[in-house]
Amino acid sequence: MSAGRFTGERVSERVVKVVEADSCGQYPFLYLVEGSDKVVVIDTGTGGESFKDWIDSHGNAENKPYLVINTHVHFDHTGGNRHFVEAGKPSVIDIAMGAADRTFTENSDITSLCMAHSIAAPVLGVSRWLDNGELVYLDDANPSPDNALEILFTPGHTKDSIALYLRPEGRLFVGDNLYPYTPVHLDCIGSSMADFRATLRTLIEFVDAREAERRAAGTLPPIPTGDGGAEVAPAAEGSTTLVVEPAGSPEDAVAEPTGNGGMAAQRAAVIEGFLGVVGLDRATADALFSVETLMALADWLPANAINMYLSDPEGVMAMAPPSVDAPAVAAAAGSGSGGGSGIAAGSPGSAMFPGGAEADPLAVTLSCGHVEANLPSSALADVEAFMAAVASGAVAPSYRDGAYAEYSSGTFTFMIPDSFLER
Ligand SMILES: [Zn+2]
Repeated sequence: MSAGRFTGERVSERVVKVVEADSCGQYPFLYLVEGSDKVVVIDTGTGGESFKDWIDSHGNAENKPYLVINTHVHFDHTGGNRHFVEAGKPSVIDIAMGAADRTFTENSDITSLCMAHSIAAPVLGVSRWLDNGELVYLDDANPSPDNALEILFTPGHTKDSIALYLRPEGRLFVGDNLYPYTPVHLDCIGSSMADFRATLRTLIEFVDAREAERRAAGTLPPIPTGDGGAEVAPAAEGSTTLVVEPAGSPEDAVAEPTGNGGMAAQRAAVIEGFLGVVGLDRATADALFSVETLMALADWLPANAINMYLSDPEGVMAMAPPSVDAPAVAAAAGSGSGGGSGIAAGSPGSAMFPGGAEADPLAVTLSCGHVEANLPSSALADVEAFMAAVASGAVAPSYRDGAYAEYSSGTFTFMIPDSFLER
């Protein structure tokens, strides 16, 4: 099995999403945010291969120094820190993590979950501890809150989880606290349902305030969304040097988008290739499951999609086809919807891969630690309502094995063992 592999895709003027096809099967989403004087690296992958080497050779043409920020201590987000530690200053300015619970973070041999995968504890190398509300400037010579990443403490998935808000784009990196289509872990060392619900409230209030500001200003440039066939903004000339190319062979990866038609055509070709291998026609596949969802989970790599389809056909078939027009179903406690509460239907594009027509350029976009780089912020309120229902006992688990339980609504599933419901 491959020791590690990265595939990059630009999702906006300043942001590149990179997915690691790691040997542990975590597929973490890593992000590069390009500032004037630095490249901010949000998470570093498992470390099976050097993410730093990949960035060095895939577009950091100006050799800007790196500032690494980890969203939380888990090994699939911090394992690559060691390569930045080895490089040291001046090419690496700092390695930064949230200071909410340093004891938790610094005991990474236990809290990184590395033991579950029989790999060594990550070498974190933290040289800067970030406070709640702290600003990380993208141009230190001209420090401005409008050109910065704002740090938010967001415990829930872990005690040390942070979110980062990229103010000039209205983009909030939420780490592993939220992503669709694959279960969110609220069952880790340091996970807390109470913390998670408080964090959802914090993020909703934060996002609402930022969206209000963006609408009041109204002059911000449109925020491009890279998934769902929407147009991806080209890199701004002169100011952006990250030139990301697919890491895989041409037949094995979706190349960089060249506009709507280019990306759509390439993705259609990828789907055709997948269907050919597994022996389905498109109409049959669409009746069984969402091919786009599977492809997104597989990061649009046919080999990954084929493996997922062949190794877990029931899981693939269980993927509900996207239905943005489905009627909204209240997820609040006592709504009596029975089974799923329909988070996906809460608002246009909510919990779905947002299409270009649905995207609101002044809204805040969520970028997740797995699966999705352009999630509508409305998902936060949907999930908050669902968590209230779960906490009140109004929602039955979608899966149970003894004291272990999962709760599902729409495209979201949360792993919450019984004992964790009380935390
Ligand atoms: Zn995690």
